Amino acid sequence: MRPVPGSFKTEAVVLRSIRYGEADRILHLYSATRGRVGAIAKGSRRPRSRFGGRLEPFFRLDLVLHEGRGELATVTAAHTVSGHPHLRASGPALGAAARACDAVLRLLDSAEANPGAYNLLCRYLALLDGEESVAGDGVGDGAAGFGPALAFRLKLVLAAGFAPELGSCARCGEGDGLRGFSGAAGGVVCGACERDGFELSPEAHAFMVEALGHPLADAPSASDRALRQVERAVSETLEHHAHVRLRAAA
Ligand SMILES: [Zn+2]
Repeated sequence: MRPVPGSFKTEAVVLRSIRYGEADRILHLYSATRGRVGAIAKGSRRPRSRFGGRLEPFFRLDLVLHEGRGELATVTAAHTVSGHPHLRASGPALGAAARACDAVLRLLDSAEANPGAYNLLCRYLALLDGEESVAGDGVGDGAAGFGPALAFRLKLVLAAGFAPELGSCARCGEGDGLRGFSGAAGGVVCGACERDGFELSPEAHAFMVEALGHPLADAPSASDRALRQVERAVSETLEHHAHVRLRAAA
């Protein structure tokens, strides 16, 4: 059911910003109160637009949107909550932010609030901006690595409702000898059930459990080999259960 036409306020992150027509922009937003929102910002590319430069990807904004009968809402006011200037100055952080927003675009397409997913995205962008340092040195690049990217991805998968089973065999419930992962089964599998899965090292398994159990800023570290297995586990889970394919995490 489409909501009644009218104005509403929401906080949102710009996932994608596309030039449209002579002077407009079309925005793909992830909002705090309505999930995915598509919006048009009329005249926003004119030199003296009241929106300034804040309708760019990774901006966190306070918005007033007007909903008419069309598919797109119209942006009537936009104030910056955070522009993440440090993130914009770092190549690795920009790349990580782009992959994070792309994952949200692909995985969370419903117009339904998902506060867990929204807060997670805001938290990750703040970390990439260096507001809270992973390495403790005030630099956001520490958050742009493969480990934090996969911790973000795991938490996003959890928020989207596709968390893998990690406590016991996803096929038979066995609690010991968990040494494989099956995307089809949706979690770790024991030796007897491993045939449709791939080998998952204890290190990769531990990373997944710890990443899901800790705040993003305390993401665990792991070897590159273990992280590749984690990435594969996440990818195969989403392909089987969400029918979504994500870009490489790093
Ligand atoms: Zn089993």
